[in-house]
Amino acid sequence: MEKIRIDIPDPVNYILKKLNAAGHEAYAVGGCVRDALLGREPNDWDITTSALPSQVKEVFHRTIDTGIRHGTVTVLLREGQFEVTTYRIDGIYEDSRHPKEVTFTAKLTEDLRRRDFTINAMAYHPSVGTVDPYGGLRDLSEGVIRAVGVPAERFDEDALRIMRAVRFSAQLGFAIDPGTYLALRDFAPRLELISRERIRDELIKLITSPYPETFEVLYDTGITKVIFPRFDEMMACPQNRPSHKYNVGLHTLAVMQSVPPTVRLRLAALLHDSAKPEVRTVNDRGWDVFTGHHTAGAAFAEKWLREMRLDNATIADVCTLIRYHDFLFPKDEAGVRHAMNLVGDLFDDLLLLMKADSEAKSDEGKAWHLPVVEQIGTLYHAIKERGDCVDMKHLAVTGGDLIRLGINPGPGMGEVLNTLLDEVLDDPAKNDREYLLCEAAHLASEIHSKG
Ligand code: ATP
Ligand code: MG
Repeated sequence: MEKIRIDIPDPVNYILKKLNAAGHEAYAVGGCVRDALLGREPNDWDITTSALPSQVKEVFHRTIDTGIRHGTVTVLLREGQFEVTTYRIDGIYEDSRHPKEVTFTAKLTEDLRRRDFTINAMAYHPSVGTVDPYGGLRDLSEGVIRAVGVPAERFDEDALRIMRAVRFSAQLGFAIDPGTYLALRDFAPRLELISRERIRDELIKLITSPYPETFEVLYDTGITKVIFPRFDEMMACPQNRPSHKYNVGLHTLAVMQSVPPTVRLRLAALLHDSAKPEVRTVNDRGWDVFTGHHTAGAAFAEKWLREMRLDNATIADVCTLIRYHDFLFPKDEAGVRHAMNLVGDLFDDLLLLMKADSEAKSDEGKAWHLPVVEQIGTLYHAIKERGDCVDMKHLAVTGGDLIRLGINPGPGMGEVLNTLLDEVLDDPAKNDREYLLCEAAHLASEIHSKG
């Protein structure tokens, strides 16, 4: 037992004291102990206790039977909710996923032994200190992710731990212990048994972490082959010229590193060149050509993100960023206004993605790409500063105005409005009510005589 002090929030202290007063052991446990020792703010404080669920419910007024069969009772306090779980041993695992049954135990060290990694297998009590039977403190100070016990057995029991190992390595910047690493490779195929949702949650934590380049471990251990085989193709796909120091996969990792850690930017970075292996051809100078890879990339991203059960709003945003990341619009003010109209609120993110894409190119690639991105940025900021109209909301005429001109609501009206907006995007001086009403009347009579 080590005497290191952790600041425990008052409600957690209160729960420990109440359980102790009723004659039960109780400790803060797992991720919160790890994070507190690292000086990180824990997501949540979990409590482990020798008390049986029924005994926990006797001690507190307000509780919820969260996972009573697995020993978890949620205690409701004014300050929030806290999960209190009885010391337990997980029984035989079925399908590398679910323990068939759990048995309660009176021994804290047995509860700690069922946990995944040594840094997650520590408990803390203010008057006892840190309980650390598996070397978690040492691994925490040396920066190592190490399975508790025999790694192969632990991944055999629960294949999600394979993803968790790499995710913690990325979040904390820790190395994976060699024995644990080898077992990752052996058990990677077991991820077939884990639901897409659970894999997605771990992947998102990994790529939005401070070290998203740890993604390479997924490739190296054969995990991507199971959950995202396209990445293996990207690692085998050259980038533009034979002389380029990166392949598409390594370029992708570099782009992920240089965009801010939001879900949509990191996903857009991960997938922005995902169609390159699909569309690659080689021209007569021996260069790789990837015609249409942004459109194909958006299509691939949509399909894969749906499979991974991402929410529709994120999928739509990521696909927009991928579709426009290679600026197929003219690099002048009108071109940028049209792009702003298509991309909308995502334009700032688009610039960040384009800049990161530049930074991750070879020197010659960067030499032509970066100035273009900077030029787009300058034009964009000037347009925003001036407040040019770039969407229908700011057009100087509305559907109501057109109805008063005798244009009926419907596709015809949509066509008129779009044509007016296009004119205004080309030349913002035309966003003038009188001019546009006159123009609308012309357009309406043209459509009328056509139809
Ligand atoms: P975070 O909350 O930052 O995602 P965490 O370590 O708190 O990380 P949780 O999923 O909240 O992770 O789990 C809390 C604790 O439960 C872990 O620290 C670990 O001790 C244990 N645990 C969670 N999932 C597993 C698992 N799949 N196998 C073994 N132990 C696990
Ligand atoms: Mg947690």
